[in-house]
Amino acid sequence: MFNGKVAMVTGAASGIGRSTAVELAKKGASVVISDVDKERLAETEKLISDEGGEVMSLPADVSSAGEVSGMVEETMKKYSRLDVAVNNAGIGGDLAPTADYTEEGWDRVLNINLKGQWLCMKNQIPVMLKNDGGSIVNITSILGKVGFANAPAYVAAKHGLIGLTRTAALEYSAKGVRVNAVAPAFIVTPMLEDAGLLSDPEAKQGLVDLHPIGRLGEPKEVADAIIWLASDEASFVTGHTLMVDGGYTSR
Ligand code: NAP
Repeated sequence: MFNGKVAMVTGAASGIGRSTAVELAKKGASVVISDVDKERLAETEKLISDEGGEVMSLPADVSSAGEVSGMVEETMKKYSRLDVAVNNAGIGGDLAPTADYTEEGWDRVLNINLKGQWLCMKNQIPVMLKNDGGSIVNITSILGKVGFANAPAYVAAKHGLIGLTRTAALEYSAKGVRVNAVAPAFIVTPMLEDAGLLSDPEAKQGLVDLHPIGRLGEPKEVADAIIWLASDEASFVTGHTLMVDGGYTSR
């Protein structure tokens, strides 16, 4: 499906990003993986190379303009093209009501979850335009569509990312770069584990109950949706946000 293509995945050391990078490699892409967590990024690299996949690790902080441009430059030096970008790196951030949220917490979430995705696109789009175009998938959230008490910065960033995705799609689709988003509901990843939401049975059941399908999602279920949007099978789809949410937003 992706033979001869180069795909970049940010936040690839963990969860949804790792699963997406592994699946892209299985489907023939040369995969550039990036994250701030170098140790777990090396684990993802090993998972891919052990299966015979082509992979290059480029640790980078997506909220740093210099590190993001360096990541795309290194990709071009090695592969001379970029066909697919999955802008996935993100954090949950602090939990507090809007009036109690700290400025520092707000800036951190917005810098990583919204500015970071813009910086990635700012560098990826020009190199895609120089070749045969490309496909970008930004990872937003159900919380890009609906509110969630005590997560004002995260909700604002994820709503913003849907608008940014639509805008970039308007600007670049006719030039060959499709831009879409995937909006997962609650997925079993370290992000939820670290927030203590999976270890407490009552908290976990409370989350499960929000999903009409009756369970939380798995990273590969999100990766499969990302891969479809990234592939030529979705050639007429752009500016779209695909809910992968077990019915969460259908209530
Ligand atoms: P995860 O397991 O925590 O993986 C995210 C990865 O991104 C981590 O390795 C993290 O490193 C890394 N990262 C954090 N800040 C970064 C930065 N500034 N630059 C580069 N990498 C950075 O989370 P996940 O659940 O797979 O989430 C992936 C994406 O899906 C996020 O955008 C998230 O908002 C979105 N999402 C997740 C869920 C869910 O329920 N899991 C639901 C909806 C949307 P550290 O661990 O060191 O921070």
